[in-house]
Amino acid sequence: MSWLLARTLAAVLMLLVGGALGFLAGQFTASPVSMALAGASAAVALFVTLDGMRGERLMLWLRGGQDHPAPRDAGLWGELGYRIEKAMRQRERDRQSEETRLHQFLAAIEASPNGVLLLDAQERIDWCNRVAAEHFDLDPQRDRLQRVTNLVRAPAFVSFLQGGQFDRPVRFSAPGGRCTLEVTVRPYADDMKLVLSQDITEAERSDAMRRDFVANVSHEIRTPLTVLSGFVETMARLPLSEGERARVLVLMEQQTQRMQALVADLLTLAQLEGSPRPTHDRWVSVEALMRRALADGQALSAGRHTLQMHGGTGEDAAELAGSDSELFSALGNLVSNAVRYTPEGGRIDVHWRWREDGSGELCVVDSGPGIAREHIPRLTERFYRVDGSRSRDTGGTGLGLSIVKHVAQRHGGEIDIQSELGQGSSFRLLLPALRVRRVAAAPVAWVPPVTA
Ligand code: ADP
Repeated sequence: MSWLLARTLAAVLMLLVGGALGFLAGQFTASPVSMALAGASAAVALFVTLDGMRGERLMLWLRGGQDHPAPRDAGLWGELGYRIEKAMRQRERDRQSEETRLHQFLAAIEASPNGVLLLDAQERIDWCNRVAAEHFDLDPQRDRLQRVTNLVRAPAFVSFLQGGQFDRPVRFSAPGGRCTLEVTVRPYADDMKLVLSQDITEAERSDAMRRDFVANVSHEIRTPLTVLSGFVETMARLPLSEGERARVLVLMEQQTQRMQALVADLLTLAQLEGSPRPTHDRWVSVEALMRRALADGQALSAGRHTLQMHGGTGEDAAELAGSDSELFSALGNLVSNAVRYTPEGGRIDVHWRWREDGSGELCVVDSGPGIAREHIPRLTERFYRVDGSRSRDTGGTGLGLSIVKHVAQRHGGEIDIQSELGQGSSFRLLLPALRVRRVAAAPVAWVPPVTA
């Protein structure tokens, strides 16, 4: 039954009941009809009053905070209250779920490694995440509704925004020169703008390193190649005597060896960079390492230097956890450098030392020319040489110390260089306690005394 029909029936019923009661009461008076009319009027008045009271209760609930349920009256007002309350509760639930979604969405943008900045039609800051605040040096609360170009004044950024050509990103130095930013702009909605920023300092640096590396390798290979092709041409065109031919062949062999050494070092570096760190379960004898490196050094020196080994044997014997070939390559490079840069008659000492914290160090000390202080921090860079011609003349590739540094880092250690011009140099390969252990001296067998 519809509420209109129910309500009409209720009103009619009350009217009839009131009229009937009035009529019955009128039997004891002179005018039962008048009493019936009075009864009907009183019933209508009661109906209207009750109706008004229910309406008023609903109105009071609506005007209030609706923090308690709507009045549960019968009839139209009760149903109205119930329906309004239900609609309001549904709307509240919808609002809460939208709010949760919005928070999740903003949290996702906050978690983005890139900066996100929203600008309104006047290019005023509407919202930005923490990364954008860092990139552009903004305060998300304080700078809200400020024109972005008043705060980020990098000319490249300002003209990019004003130019309105957003099909390519723009690169510029962040405020304060802390990093290089790449910024992309995407217009959306009514003239609003989404600004995405990315810190590309590292990517730019590794790009520049890669370019330098390729240029250096090309240069290192081109030089011996040019020399070789010159000799080949000479041999092809000129009639050479047997002596001249032999001399040219020796020079050609030197250039070939130079290229071979370079390719070998490049491969070693590539392998060091591309393979997992050496595990802790293979132990290498320090004494064996030192003896091999010293033997190679002596062969290279051919009696021009005095080479000596200190420690690493007997009580001092130690083992290193890691890769035998890598550790040998590192120590071998240090010894070969010492031999190559120390003038004839000089001394080269290779030490093994235990340190107080349980770690250990392999140290190569020479009495060579030493290195000026300003070069020391750059020595482990690829192709960095103090004296390029001396390095090349002695078969250097410029990659030796870079290999040593990689090996040290892959074993959790580091390389330390101490040197002064004219005072010789000391190169220390520091290895952490976790990768160093003592070797127990073999027990001496007990022999019972021989009795006659
Ligand atoms: P290279 O193949 O040129 O020796 P390295 O990376 O091994 O390359 O060494 C880098 C530079 O450090 C060398 O070119 C040299 O100038 C300097 N250097 C390395 N070891 C010594 C040393 N023992 N004494 C003096 N200079 C050294």
